[in-house]
Amino acid sequence: MSEEASLMTTLVLAQTEATRLLPGTARLVGAARAFGRPVTVLVAGYGMGEAAARAARLEGVERVLLADDACLAEQLAEPMAALLRPLSAEYDVIIGGMASMAHREILPRLAGMLDVMALSDVLAIENESTFQRPAFAGNVVTTVRLLDDGPRLLLMCESAFEEAGTDGARSAPVEKLAVPADLPLPVRVIAEERHGESGPDLRSARLVLGMGRGASGEEARRMLHELADRLNAAIAATRAVVDDGLAPNEWQVGQTGKRIAPAVYVAFGISGAHQHLAGIRDAGLIVAVNTDEEAPIFRAADHGLVMDATEVLRRLLEEASAPKRA
Ligand SMILES: Cc1cc2nc3c(=O)[nH]c(=O)nc-3n(C[C@H](O)[C@H](O)[C@H](O)COP(=O)(O)OP(=O)(O)OC[C@H]3O[C@@H](n4cnc5c(N)ncnc54)[C@H](O)[C@@H]3O)c2cc1C
Repeated sequence: MSEEASLMTTLVLAQTEATRLLPGTARLVGAARAFGRPVTVLVAGYGMGEAAARAARLEGVERVLLADDACLAEQLAEPMAALLRPLSAEYDVIIGGMASMAHREILPRLAGMLDVMALSDVLAIENESTFQRPAFAGNVVTTVRLLDDGPRLLLMCESAFEEAGTDGARSAPVEKLAVPADLPLPVRVIAEERHGESGPDLRSARLVLGMGRGASGEEARRMLHELADRLNAAIAATRAVVDDGLAPNEWQVGQTGKRIAPAVYVAFGISGAHQHLAGIRDAGLIVAVNTDEEAPIFRAADHGLVMDATEVLRRLLEEASAPKRA
């Protein structure tokens, strides 16, 4: 990193869910450290004291700003961008994550206010202006240079960066940020339906079960959920399944969904379109179950089973329920 980069100040937007700090924050801090400067984390929301304390223990974090106010509870783009605008005079780099729908709305809005570009899908940081990002559904990695002088607004692919560790003994100071009373709040969330709340987060799960159209029938879905519960796995879905209304948007993995990096990804009844593969490239091991031996997923998989997904799920559930041999 250049001499110039060492002067840069970096602000990371914490990834949160309700009042919880999500593990993606540690990866964003890991990415921010590439700029060679200690990092400030902004924890915004309502009732975020514990989340801020956790962020303060991440290695490399020099300061935590806590913006705690009811109008930030849903992390809507309008109040968040208005909160960030004055901070952009203090920070050269503002980092969010692709896995957060909130960040994906906040940073482009802030970019519009500041008349700079928000760069999405960042895979690697070469220096303060030069970044790598995918193109053509992840088949090509391009190196791009930002030519304007404004603050760098970056949406990182979290899975491409190492998590910052936690330092048990040390804790950065947490400073309360005054939240202006007149932040815009054009909409209020009046009801919320949560999916998969009890399971692990898709972005941090070590085992992810992928649901494609070939495993989206009622029986297969029921077994997939049961298996996920037993194995403490998260469920992902293809866009086809999401479009069919059989899985929530947040489960979609791929070019227009999340990019994940589990240790093991098991694709049930998934064809393996390149738009889906773009989201699972960082998986440690890919196992595919598909009735069509020509399905493209088998070319990306480490292990493949040419079998009916429902039958495989039934057998796996039996196996998971069987008493363990000594
Ligand atoms: C701009 C754009 C962006 C996109 N973004 C995404 C994205 O982010 N994520 C994404 O997933 N897709 C995305 N898509 C859609 C993508 O192109 C595919 O259409 C989609 O991934 C297909 O989903 P699928 O594999 O579930 O369904 P299908 O393509 O219908 O495949 C179903 C598979 O199941 C197998 N099968 C059938 N019955 C069984 C059975 N009983 N047991 C086992 N296997 C069986 C079939 O052989 C087949 O291979 C995008 C498309 C476009 C154009």
